[in-house]
Amino acid sequence: KLYNEVQDLKGNIRVYCRVRPFLPGQCKKLTTVEHIGENGELLVSNPTKPGKDKNRIFKFNKVFGQAASQEEVFLDTRPLIRTVLDGFNVCIFAYGQTGSGKTYTMSGPSISSKEDWGVNYRALHDLFHIAQNRKGSMTYEIGVQMVEIYNEQVRDLLTCHAVPDASMHQVTSTEDVLELMNIGLMNRAVSATALNERSSRSHSIITIHVRGVDLESGTLLRGNLHLVDLAGSERVDRSEVTGERLREAQHINKSLSALGDVIFALAQKSQHVPYRNSKLTQVLQSSLGGQAKTLMFVQLNPDPDSYSETLSTLKFAERVS
Ligand code: ADP
Ligand code: MG
Repeated sequence: KLYNEVQDLKGNIRVYCRVRPFLPGQCKKLTTVEHIGENGELLVSNPTKPGKDKNRIFKFNKVFGQAASQEEVFLDTRPLIRTVLDGFNVCIFAYGQTGSGKTYTMSGPSISSKEDWGVNYRALHDLFHIAQNRKGSMTYEIGVQMVEIYNEQVRDLLTCHAVPDASMHQVTSTEDVLELMNIGLMNRAVSATALNERSSRSHSIITIHVRGVDLESGTLLRGNLHLVDLAGSERVDRSEVTGERLREAQHINKSLSALGDVIFALAQKSQHVPYRNSKLTQVLQSSLGGQAKTLMFVQLNPDPDSYSETLSTLKFAERVS
C-alpha cells in the first residue's frame, strides 16, 4: 500500500513552497507573496513596480501559506518519509534566506510542545509508529547521525569531531531522538555564539538509517532519510565583506549552486550528475538520484523588503523544479 503512494508521487523531485507569517512585533505590511488557489500557485508582486508588470505567478507542487500549521505541512510530507521503511532513499531540504523559516519547518520553534514539532521529529515519530505496527512481519533498526558542514568541512554534531565517519546512534523511541537532536542543536548553537550566528552559515544534516528484515523471507531492506537545514541563501555584498565572512559566503554560494546543479541535472535526466563539486552534494550523493526521492521546501519571507532575495530564491526553485 505504501508502495503505491510512491508510485503516485510524480517524478523524483518535488518542490513545496512555504511562506512564513509576519512575526509578532514585526511591522505588518502588504505581502509580496500570496498563496493563490489549491494548485500550488504563488503570486509574487514586485513592490517597486506599478501596473500590469507588477505580478508574476510561480508554480510549485504545493504552496503553504502563512497560516499553514506544522501538522498540515507534515501531512503532505509523510507519504514520502514512509517510503524509507520500504527501502527507499529520501532527501528533504529547506532552502531560503536567513529568517525565512527553514529551521522552523525542519525542527520547529521548540520541541517542548508537540504542536510545534517540525518535519524532523514528526518523521521519526512516524517511522517508529509504523515500525511498531509491522512488528509481526518486519523488524527494523533505526540509527541517527547528525553533521554540520561549515566552510566545506564536516563536523559531527553529536561528538564535535571532524568527520570522515560520523558517529551512528541507534534509537528505539521518539524520546531517544529528542535527546539526540537536542544535543545536536545545542552543539550547533554553541558555535553560533562563538562565531556570530554561524548556524545560518552552515548546513545541518540529520541522517536516519533504516535497516529492516522481513521475518518470513529474511530479505534485508535499507533506506536512508536525509533531513537538511541549508545555510542561508542570501547574497552577500562582496564589496562589503572581507576575510572570514567572505570565505564563508563563497563556500555557501559554491555549495548551494552545486546542489542546484545536481538537482537540475537529475531533473533533466542528464548522463552526468556533478556530485563532486561540493561537500554537501558528496555527503548526500547516495540519496540524490537513482530511485531516491527529493523534496525541497522553498522558504519565503513575506516582507516586501525581502523582495529581491525572495526573487532569487524563486529563481533557484524554478530551475530545479
Ligand atoms: P531560518 O532558519 O530560515 O533562518 P527560522 O526558522 O529561524 O528561519 O525563522 C525565523 C523566525 O520566524 C523565527 O522566530 C521563527 O520562529 C519564525 N517563523 C518561521 N516560520 C514560521 C511559521 N511558519 N510560523 C510562525 N513563526 C515562524
Ligand atoms: Mg535556521
